[in-house]
Amino acid sequence: MSQPDKAKKLTNLQYHVTAEKGTEPPGTGKYLYNRDKGTYNCIVCGSVLFSSQAKYDSTTPGLMGWPSFSEVASSKAVKLITDNSYGMTRTEAVCQKCGAHLGHLFDDERSPTGQHYCINSSALDFASKKTGKEPK
Ligand SMILES: [Zn+2]
Repeated sequence: MSQPDKAKKLTNLQYHVTAEKGTEPPGTGKYLYNRDKGTYNCIVCGSVLFSSQAKYDSTTPGLMGWPSFSEVASSKAVKLITDNSYGMTRTEAVCQKCGAHLGHLFDDERSPTGQHYCINSSALDFASKKTGKEPK
């Protein structure tokens, strides 16, 4: 089998999350407990969104079932949009480059930065860092 896999085909869940602003069931995401070093890229367009250095284990009730990041990889990586759906006002995080829905940003005093990006694993594609160099 030598299929070209340049254009990544999304699973139903990946499509539901990124295109339909869905949320994966808490505790099910494949990157929830990932501790490898590398970058988390947009599953749709490959844009670098988060660094493994900003990933942390959230202990905040209600926000514990998804990968947590304290900051974005660069200020241009993620776009924030006010989301008034479901009778709540939340801050939606989308990919700046392609507009894919990623998750939400919350204020969280338990986060190292006070900010908590609660991101669906389904919106992310992890690229492991194998340079042998410890990232600072
Ligand atoms: Zn994207």
